[in-house]
Amino acid sequence: MKFGGSSVADAAAMLKVFEIVNKFADNELVVVLSACKGMTDKLIACANYASNNNFSESIHLAESIEIHHFNILNEVINNDKLKKNALDDVKFLTDELKTFLEGVSLLQELTPKSLDQILSFGERLSTLVFSHICKFLRLNCKWMFAPDFIKTDSNFNSAKYNISNTKNAANDKLIPVLQQEKLIITQGFIGSDDDSIVTTLGRGGSDLSAAIIGAAINADEIWIWTDVSGVLSADPRKLKNTKTIRKMTFNEVRELAFFGAKVLHPDTIKPAMEDKIPVRVLNTFEPDNKGTLILENIIKNDAELHSVISMNSCVFLSINKPAEADFSSFANNTFNILELNNFKILYTLITESNIRCVLKPENQSLDILFATEFNNYNIKWNECAVLCLSGIGIDQYKLKSQKIITKLQNGSDYYQLIAGFSDNAIVMICKTEDEMKVLEQIHELILNSIEG
Ligand code: ADP
Ligand code: ASP
Ligand code: MG
Repeated sequence: MKFGGSSVADAAAMLKVFEIVNKFADNELVVVLSACKGMTDKLIACANYASNNNFSESIHLAESIEIHHFNILNEVINNDKLKKNALDDVKFLTDELKTFLEGVSLLQELTPKSLDQILSFGERLSTLVFSHICKFLRLNCKWMFAPDFIKTDSNFNSAKYNISNTKNAANDKLIPVLQQEKLIITQGFIGSDDDSIVTTLGRGGSDLSAAIIGAAINADEIWIWTDVSGVLSADPRKLKNTKTIRKMTFNEVRELAFFGAKVLHPDTIKPAMEDKIPVRVLNTFEPDNKGTLILENIIKNDAELHSVISMNSCVFLSINKPAEADFSSFANNTFNILELNNFKILYTLITESNIRCVLKPENQSLDILFATEFNNYNIKWNECAVLCLSGIGIDQYKLKSQKIITKLQNGSDYYQLIAGFSDNAIVMICKTEDEMKVLEQIHELILNSIEG
């Protein structure tokens, strides 16, 4: 079971988590926690202040992190001796955090490696506090340090997990303890490289930790507890009348997460998918809601539309290939340049004379591409929004979606509907200003499909 940042945000939320864990505690259970909501952002800010000559602000923020965890313990634990032990443990960790911040401040240098050390304190603190709460409420559990068994490469800030090393480490260190103790509390988001240096898996990476651990211990199921009742028919921050999707496939979730559905980290599903472990997405604040069950296959006679995700501020790039250039080296070169400059490619279409792709810039401006060979190419680009509609047997819906797009087209030359490359997804590209209009109409189609 993995609980996200809002599920462990404060004392009231942690008590909800406790009730859920307690209810299932007669199973062998690994509980993976994120940092309390907002703590990872605060830790990033701490690290930046420390490396930018503002040590006092950095320490001030670190103290607010300390106080947050003290407050949870003070609210929940009313046994003086247990409370003192718990507060001392938190203090020990936050002192260590301050030492790292001091190091960064003295050197005036923040490397990806030191940032990962600093970020790890969010999850170390939340799991420490939660395991003290379990002890106080008389639920036996064992706190374990996830970097001891989640093994990654050394790509700090977004390390790639190594499943075979993780399975070996879990066999040695995690499984024997799980069999003996039955309930393990551990951190999401963090792992360690071959030199045992702490790494992080990228923002939102606790979902992935749960899936990696699930695969490493060959779990019966992986349950992701969050603040909404499963995977919804659309992002609830964008549309109001969303519905929970009861069952969906791994492939659909991969597509939705790739196009930015925050409910699951884009890589989460991969370790579960490899080992065919069912994943449930559940609501910590409505634990009786069945949420979403994600499986390899769903047997249905009819097609079903499930969910739509939209992403704005994307760029639709069209690059003309010089006639004399070789087709595959031109394509390779183009993608290398995009990758080297950290542009996420959402979609591509290549012909002999042209490459089209949709990019999602993070913070980089397109200008950096013109410091490369791109400067010699004939390039056009437009801002756009991208939508991805997921479902099963989705081919049947191409015509309906095409009609919507055609209606919206209004003579514009860069609306596109890309269907047929996957039975689980249709991708649509539209003008940024039409995003909500397309989203609402596609969502109507989904609601009709669910109800019909
Ligand atoms: P956690 O802290 O539990 O990891 P996140 O904030 O990372 O939670 O992800 C859950 C959030 O994802 C929801 O609160 C919701 O706003 C957002 N979200 C975006 N798209 C969807 C979707 N299709 N279904 C459910 N939630 C979604
Ligand atoms: N705490 C990390 C983050 O905020 C990981 C996670 O919550 O999944 O990105
Ligand atoms: Mg998340």
